[in-house]
Amino acid sequence: MLIPRFIPRILVAFSLLIPVSILAQNSNVSASAGSAAAAEPTKEAPRLEHFDPDLADKTLNPCDDFYKYACHKWLAGNPVPPDQIYWNTGSGLELWSDTILRETLEASSNNDPKRTPLQQQIGDYWAACMDEGGIEAAGLKPLRPELDRIAALESKKEITLEIAHLHHIFPGAWEGTRDNQTDSPLFGFTGQQDYDDASTVVAQFDQGGLSLPNRDYYIKTDKESVKTIKKYRAHLRKMFMLTGETEAQARGDANTVIDLETAMARAQMDNIKRRDPKNIDNKMSLAQVRELAPFIDLDAYLRAVNAPASDHFLVTTPDFFRAEEKLLEKHPLDQWKTYMRWQVIHRAAPYLTKAVADEDFDFFARTLAGQQQQLPRWRRCTHSADHDLGEALGQAYVDRAFPPESKARTLEMVHAVEQALHNDIDSANWMTPATRDQAIIKLKGIEVKIGYPSHWRDYSRVHITRDSYLANVEQASSFEFERWVAKIGRPVDRSEWTMTPPTINAYYDPQLNTINFPAGILQPPYFDKDKDDSVNYGGIGMVIGHEIIHGFDDQGRKFDAHGNLRDWWTAEDAKQYEARGKCISDQYTQEVPDAGPGVKQNGLLTQGEDTADNGGIHLALYALEAELKRQGKSLDDKGPDGWTYRQRFFLSYSYSWCANIRPEVARLVVTTDPHSLPIFRIDNVVSNMPEFAQAFGCKAGQKMVRANACRVW
Ligand SMILES: [Zn+2]
Repeated sequence: MLIPRFIPRILVAFSLLIPVSILAQNSNVSASAGSAAAAEPTKEAPRLEHFDPDLADKTLNPCDDFYKYACHKWLAGNPVPPDQIYWNTGSGLELWSDTILRETLEASSNNDPKRTPLQQQIGDYWAACMDEGGIEAAGLKPLRPELDRIAALESKKEITLEIAHLHHIFPGAWEGTRDNQTDSPLFGFTGQQDYDDASTVVAQFDQGGLSLPNRDYYIKTDKESVKTIKKYRAHLRKMFMLTGETEAQARGDANTVIDLETAMARAQMDNIKRRDPKNIDNKMSLAQVRELAPFIDLDAYLRAVNAPASDHFLVTTPDFFRAEEKLLEKHPLDQWKTYMRWQVIHRAAPYLTKAVADEDFDFFARTLAGQQQQLPRWRRCTHSADHDLGEALGQAYVDRAFPPESKARTLEMVHAVEQALHNDIDSANWMTPATRDQAIIKLKGIEVKIGYPSHWRDYSRVHITRDSYLANVEQASSFEFERWVAKIGRPVDRSEWTMTPPTINAYYDPQLNTINFPAGILQPPYFDKDKDDSVNYGGIGMVIGHEIIHGFDDQGRKFDAHGNLRDWWTAEDAKQYEARGKCISDQYTQEVPDAGPGVKQNGLLTQGEDTADNGGIHLALYALEAELKRQGKSLDDKGPDGWTYRQRFFLSYSYSWCANIRPEVARLVVTTDPHSLPIFRIDNVVSNMPEFAQAFGCKAGQKMVRANACRVW
């Protein structure tokens, strides 16, 4: 995932392109109501992309720019459609998956009394979401009770209870604490595995409060950032006016929101500092948390969210809460009411009328990500259903799209890639035997999860009706928030997934020490059952390697086989590691012209993902080599089409990353996301590899042969 920066639940997603933070925003966007009549479902049959080595542009030199060599022809024929923010070789798969989900949802949406409870839930969710006429007729009525609650607050003491309520009902609010520290009203709260004892779950408070993608958007003073804030101010004004305020009122309220959010942004820890788990592992007693921010009525909050007793509390960023205390003291109740009213309008916008949803889309998707038009309604509703009832909907997806043979072959590949890392660690002469032994123990401790969970989540408490899309979203959101909070004090459930089965992504969870590959990504072009091993190791094999390496990247290496934050490195080996890691982070600190003039990538932010890319491709190549050897072949033998297996491997790797990206998105990724852009995920990686130079006969001095090549794994 999903998602980006050092996150408390530290899920390290493979992320095909778009980070979880943006996905969350985009699912917000993708759930937006709107373009009612215009957005007819596409009748086009979804097309899966299959690797073809002849897509390579042989008029170009692979040793000059391999990404271009492998992707140029595909990119030229696949511009970004108006309703997308990027278009890559996996985009056809997204449409294909959405179509399967839609068929399931539609089949369940008739009002047949014989439906199973699960069919009733997903079917009625779909019906309510697709009912644009009903949503228009209801207008802002579904929002009224929420706005009235806020209007009725009489003292600052009551703010805490209202925040607890907001944390319950809005999607993204609870996710703030897991995926994106910026995204929960005022602050985040959840159940979280303890860093030092991963077998226990404790209560965690996290920084939060923002609406823009991260703190930089509020703080930076370059021309582009100033322009964005100006547009955000206009958006706030329009949204307040849509709920009935006069222009003068709306103008004042917009300023209030920006002032408060900017102050919270300043108090937040930045995403590079958050990447070091030590910086957010702050244990406190209940009394200490109470003392930190007395304005937040801690006991009232914990009662309101039904939090079980916690052995101790984690407060990721105590300084943030100290600053928030001062803000709560300084600003009058009316300003906080405005802030909370904004939170309600903003978070509900995608589920409301066309006018409101369109304005939400206009700023958060068009301005921030360059998306020209909204996805058709049916795709927004499938994404929303996947987000809210993913393991209910995912069961049918697995039945239809994920045969047992796919699971078996993936598992074989995982074992082959794990063996490759075993060999790599054994031969890593920069590590002492003591550290190597520990690394092997960690590797052997990795649990593999493929396709879907061993038991499905029980959604029976989620009350879904055909009457109100917003009410359904609030129901599902409360369920999810409560599910996380209820984990506090209970044994860890190792079988849970944090991605749904149709998700086209993968992740490593350092506190569970698991690698997770949803059924959604085990499809073409990443995994293609009709293709040979060289293609599949270049595609999904690299993804597998990438996730395994996350257990040994600059963050992952700080956790042991049991998921505890424990240093198992000798001082000398750690020093060696850091020198190798610095080579990578220096190399990826680079100008990114595609993202706009002067935009620069910070290699410290992307170091974990870049390490996983560089290591993952090595492991996949070694695994392929071993597999070919078993078949009596070698990497440099020619396949049926005249390309060697080594060449096909690298071409398939690059092919699975070909992506046209809007410049707005490129900027968003470069400035907020721990993943590098696709071009660097190919060119930086292969130029570090003599194995690549060998494939295409590249010589020293050519761009794809680095004089100072980096290598961690
Ligand atoms: Zn990753």
